[in-house]
Amino acid sequence: MNMTTLLLRNGRIINNGQEFLGDVLIREGLVEQISDFKIDAHDCDSIDCEGCIISPGLIDIHVHFREPSSGKHEETTESGIASAIAGGFTTVCTMPNTTPAIDTPEIVQVAIENAKRLGQCRVLPTACATIGRKGRAIAPIRKMVSSGSIAITDDGDVVEDDAMMTAVLQECAKNNVPFMQHCQDPNTTVGGVMHEGIVQKELGYGPWPRSAEESIIARDIQINETIGAKWHAQHLSSGSSVALLREAQANNQPISGEASPHHLLLTHEACRDLGTMAKMNPPLRELSDINLLKEGIADGTIKILATDHAPHPLHTKNKPFADASFGIVGLDCALALYAKALVEDDVLTWPQMLSMMTLHPAALINRPELGRLQVGMRADITIIDPNYTWTIDSNTFASMARNCPFDGWNVTGRAIATIFGGNISHQILNDRFAHCNQS
Ligand SMILES: [Zn+2]
Repeated sequence: MNMTTLLLRNGRIINNGQEFLGDVLIREGLVEQISDFKIDAHDCDSIDCEGCIISPGLIDIHVHFREPSSGKHEETTESGIASAIAGGFTTVCTMPNTTPAIDTPEIVQVAIENAKRLGQCRVLPTACATIGRKGRAIAPIRKMVSSGSIAITDDGDVVEDDAMMTAVLQECAKNNVPFMQHCQDPNTTVGGVMHEGIVQKELGYGPWPRSAEESIIARDIQINETIGAKWHAQHLSSGSSVALLREAQANNQPISGEASPHHLLLTHEACRDLGTMAKMNPPLRELSDINLLKEGIADGTIKILATDHAPHPLHTKNKPFADASFGIVGLDCALALYAKALVEDDVLTWPQMLSMMTLHPAALINRPELGRLQVGMRADITIIDPNYTWTIDSNTFASMARNCPFDGWNVTGRAIATIFGGNISHQILNDRFAHCNQS
């Protein structure tokens, strides 16, 4: 058991929709006290949080850690966790598009145990909707949920067949588990590698229309109308998708969606300048899409921020555009990028943005306790310096991968300490930390 006592002094506590200046006392891994008064504690380690935010540990519901895998050259659970805690995350949800795919209760269990052994960060696996993510046979959803899978998804691929989608949503509803859709109609993206538009025509790459995303969202909303499963759209890219979600929510459907840093900060123009580093699935789109996504975030249609952390070795990016892998790493620098897209652009305040990284994702995965600080509960806490300026350099990332289009960007805001179960798992505290030898 962790016997340390840790006092977080004089921080801006942002928790559960509230905000005040105060102290947090952690003892034996649990939150012992949250106070807007100065807590008098002796013989304990302390962190001076002046000018910093004390937040519940950040949650990312969409990451790829590439385990299990035949070759662990892209990312492992261990390096993925290192990347997560460097970015301030204490809970991440891993996607099941691994080798083999996570489609049995046994593989779910192994994934959970591997992560537990490493500690430092909570890794909650999602599991496949269909066996091998092939769309042909439904996976044992009930058993995988009993084994600890917190969501169902074939991420990387859509569940294409209407009857299969219906069966999957019925099973998700029955087991009270969210379904996360990778919204891509494969029939309209054959050979597609970038956003259909003027830049794509100029560069001569295969087109990927917005409708590939929108048509799946529209279809799923319709299928789900009578089922009422918790349905979630992953990595939204098209501005018009937001209107579909908004309308379904107005009709009281439990529909949600997530936005990723790259879809809020980069457009298809980046494919011209950055080449394959800007190759994403779904693709980067236009400024009009970014503006509509931000509108959806501002009005609460999109309630969740997620990175889609997708590590790839550089040799899979150093290829002709059509052949290169899709995706970028996200965990190390996501917080500052969200702040750039949303806080610096006056779309959200810090408390609103942090709700999208704590309260709301925790609610989606039916683990509300993970999204807030509560006396007597586990101390998973992120200390954020919102004024910390730094330059993104993927060579310093804890992730094994370097595929990041944001290298060289000057950003503001950083997790200066990540606390998991009362233990500091990552920190750049310098003289804010004071150690006390307990007698
Ligand atoms: Zn996806």
